[in-house]
Amino acid sequence: MLSGSCCCQKIQFRLKEQPSMMGTCHCSRCRKVGASIMVFVKKESLEITEGKDFIGTYYPEEGYKYKRDFCIKCGTSLGEITSEENSFPIPANTIDGEIELENSFHEFISDKPKWLKICDEAKQFSGHPC
Ligand SMILES: [Zn+2]
Ligand SMILES: [Zn+2]
Repeated sequence: MLSGSCCCQKIQFRLKEQPSMMGTCHCSRCRKVGASIMVFVKKESLEITEGKDFIGTYYPEEGYKYKRDFCIKCGTSLGEITSEENSFPIPANTIDGEIELENSFHEFISDKPKWLKICDEAKQFSGHPC
């Protein structure tokens, strides 16, 4: 059992199983909300145990697809934690304790600023991985 939380600890969640994959998105939107390194979790594995009322949702403007959840008190990005999909990404940095995974890809490299150096051997994609 893994647990996760936001910075202020109002929102707490548990994962029955390890996430399935870790990836890094270098698009400007993920970068700005501080949610670049994500792990994919199964909906059935995730239980929000505290603070559901503190989850706010940023709905995308036209042309963008994914909504982004966050803590309305401390601002921590929570990825798509309220998604109805079977599997969805949440930021790796919300997980407390170790994850038995390493980053397996970088996407949207074309948006990456030069100051951010990639220091692993994971596959790189200029946009979405295909
Ligand atoms: Zn919080
Ligand atoms: Zn992104």
